[in-house]
Amino acid sequence: MLAHVGEHSNTKSVIYTIKGKQVEGHFLMEREGKVFIEQENGKIISADLNDFSFSNQASLSKKIAFLKQINTENRVVGKFTKNTESTDYQSIYVFLFIGILGFIILMKKQNQNPKMAYFLGSFMLFFYACKTNEAEPTTSTTNTTPTLSKTDPSFIEKVFTPYKSEVKTRFDDTYFYVETEGIPQTHNMMVGITSWQQQVPIPQGYTGSNAWSIPLKPEFAASPLSFKTNFMKGAVAIAPNGIPIFNPLNNRGEDAFAIGELDQWGGHCGRADDYHYHIAPLHFEATAGNNPIAMALDGFAIYGTKEPDGTAMKTLDEYHGHNYSNTYHYHTDTKYPYFMAAMRGKVSLDPSTPAPENQILPQAKSAGVRPALTALKGASITNFKATGTNAYSLEYTLDSKKAYVNYAWDTKGVYTFTFIGIDGKSTTTQYTKK
Ligand SMILES: [Zn+2]
Ligand SMILES: [Zn+2]
Repeated sequence: MLAHVGEHSNTKSVIYTIKGKQVEGHFLMEREGKVFIEQENGKIISADLNDFSFSNQASLSKKIAFLKQINTENRVVGKFTKNTESTDYQSIYVFLFIGILGFIILMKKQNQNPKMAYFLGSFMLFFYACKTNEAEPTTSTTNTTPTLSKTDPSFIEKVFTPYKSEVKTRFDDTYFYVETEGIPQTHNMMVGITSWQQQVPIPQGYTGSNAWSIPLKPEFAASPLSFKTNFMKGAVAIAPNGIPIFNPLNNRGEDAFAIGELDQWGGHCGRADDYHYHIAPLHFEATAGNNPIAMALDGFAIYGTKEPDGTAMKTLDEYHGHNYSNTYHYHTDTKYPYFMAAMRGKVSLDPSTPAPENQILPQAKSAGVRPALTALKGASITNFKATGTNAYSLEYTLDSKKAYVNYAWDTKGVYTFTFIGIDGKSTTTQYTKK
């Protein structure tokens, strides 16, 4: 606590943004995800780390990580001191033992009865044995990192089996490949979005050489990369229906789900009108059984809320997963970071997209047909339906009035968009997919 007092006398106040409200003060501490801020008037307030603005979260996370590191170092020092103490106890025992032995010999030489010394010696030996036994378990509880072996492709195949009508799979020695057209066939899309960039789902050719690639020989990363400062471009995992899963933070570093960018299924469309999820969609638990609900691009599986044997989820580590029977896997949750906090496995990064983008390679490419649009403030998507073969209608509500984007494409790749505004006026534009 004293260190904290010293810290604030030197620390300038910072203006924090908590749930959109500005608060001036300085960081005191973090406990179980709650951040404590001391205001200028001495009043201490606390808020969830996730309620702070993203830039606040980034600087606070750094501070918290730094404090944690200091605490860990202290703990290591503490442990070391304790070990030294127990070594000292050992030497005291040895010293006393030799002393009593000497006493027995002396008594024998003088023909006196050494009963008392025998008794003391046996008592000490017994006590020492107990003490040693007691110490044993602490030395045997080291958490070993498993040696990883090649993943059996049939294990990954099971993840995609329930969606084989819309997903094709194949594998070679290095990768398990997933091919899809990029439009989910078993659930609706877009409904529920309240922060919309005017994008709509169109098919993507994640096929052939542009298929998704899941490594079959996962390796642990020496220092796993955090999702808060990496992977803000491209997919990080693949869902059972072949739809890519992106970082829960959008490309501006905001929690996409929390700010209303995602539909009821955890997805939305990117700048290329490419549909993708930003959270591991838990609705796949309904069809997954005890299998994973997604595969991460580092080659590790992502499970739902249960372990592979159906039992309750075990404690998660800082990457949002844990070692499990000679491998590693992640788990999903309904709150941030949802499914992965850091990439536990090694991945190759695209050198042309430095951090925080750090796109993973290989990565299937999405392709649009029209220029990307901007956010339509106040619009919420209220309906989305197929109106024919390769034809959809998206309904949104703005100022309590309904508006529509109707679109369709033909076999030659000609896309026709009809925009019907809240004033009822309609405009039609055509684009051709290259
Ligand atoms: Zn997105
Ligand atoms: Zn698990």
